[in-house]
Amino acid sequence: MTVNPVNLLGLPRADLEQLFADMGEKTFRARQMMQWMYARSVLRLDDMTDLSKTLRHTLGDRVEFGLPEVQERHDAADGVIKWRLKAGDSQAIETVFIPEEGRGTLCVSAQVGCAMDCPFCATGRQGFNRNLSAAEIVGQVMLARQELDSVAGPRISNVVFMGMGEPLANLRAVVKAVDILLDDFGFGLSRRRVTVSTSGLVPQLRKLGEASNVALAVSLHAPDDALRDVLVPINRRHPIAELLEACWSYAHTANLKDVTFEYVMLAGVNDSAEQARKLARLLVDRPAKVNLIPFNPFPGSDYNRSPQAAVDEFRQVLLDAGIMTVTRKTRGDDIAAACGQLAGQVSNRVSVPLGRKMQQDLLQ
Ligand code: SAH
Ligand code: SF4
Repeated sequence: MTVNPVNLLGLPRADLEQLFADMGEKTFRARQMMQWMYARSVLRLDDMTDLSKTLRHTLGDRVEFGLPEVQERHDAADGVIKWRLKAGDSQAIETVFIPEEGRGTLCVSAQVGCAMDCPFCATGRQGFNRNLSAAEIVGQVMLARQELDSVAGPRISNVVFMGMGEPLANLRAVVKAVDILLDDFGFGLSRRRVTVSTSGLVPQLRKLGEASNVALAVSLHAPDDALRDVLVPINRRHPIAELLEACWSYAHTANLKDVTFEYVMLAGVNDSAEQARKLARLLVDRPAKVNLIPFNPFPGSDYNRSPQAAVDEFRQVLLDAGIMTVTRKTRGDDIAAACGQLAGQVSNRVSVPLGRKMQQDLLQ
């Protein structure tokens, strides 16, 4: 019987130790292996010279180091790079690198498409096909790091789960990937430099709190349930009050200074001063900061970007209430790499009803 080889890029250290233990090997082999993979970017058994020939041979039958295949690479005028990566037959995901002064942020995808159906988001409009594996998530970081080796400028210092998909609907793989990103024998990133962004899957947010303490961003986008029910449909199952309670409790257990609330500015929909005051009332005196995101249009989108004056006034209301608020710079929009513009390729859409059933299905 032939067994499918395990992609080692998806195994956190504990799982890797188990793999070696199952082979009758010492667990320190896991650290050795991770050093080859992550510290030295060596992904060929033959080059791992401190592993015995016999061990390399045995491993050769059982493991692999598959990186995602690049279909296209786009370089934006502002230095942003977008890769379109193959994710199986006629499926593709996207990964974006955003260089800034003194840091480099990699925006990774967690799913092929997204089932959450937010009407202002290109990924949401595409529908959902499947969850990515932990190896496919870590593979995006590994691949981008390799590609950036040949470019001047900042390296990957931050990773954000803000690409395609809802990371908390793929919690198991995301937690494994985060583990590898934070591990000193993995990418060694500090927990403040890894951010999971969610549209508000409350039960999974609680589970994330049990498994991890990374930075959290929440796509709020509306200050009341009536509007959020439309803009972020998962709100019908987990309304704002419930979501915010889960956020405060996550901030507490993960010992975070604050949770970032993302708020896309849609002209005439959610950008009035009155709505800003409502939002301020929800967040005042809480561990919260706000990230206002100018709406990024995509083919077929029926929203408009708020005028700069409206964004400035909205921000001022929040600042006056003592809430730290920044307006996110639009980056990479000439190559459709800005927030909400990622589309990849999603074929054979799977229809998943919102709510309990979907959450169970996606948690598998
Ligand atoms: N699914 C997760 C993370 C991916 S989206 C989430 O929703 O949080 C990253 C951010 O971009 C989210 O806040 C999302 O709401 C926002 N976004 C989606 N479409 C957008 C658009 N067209 N313009 C600007 N921001 C958008
Ligand atoms: Fe999915 Fe996030 Fe887009 Fe909503 S905004 S459809 S949750 S990727």
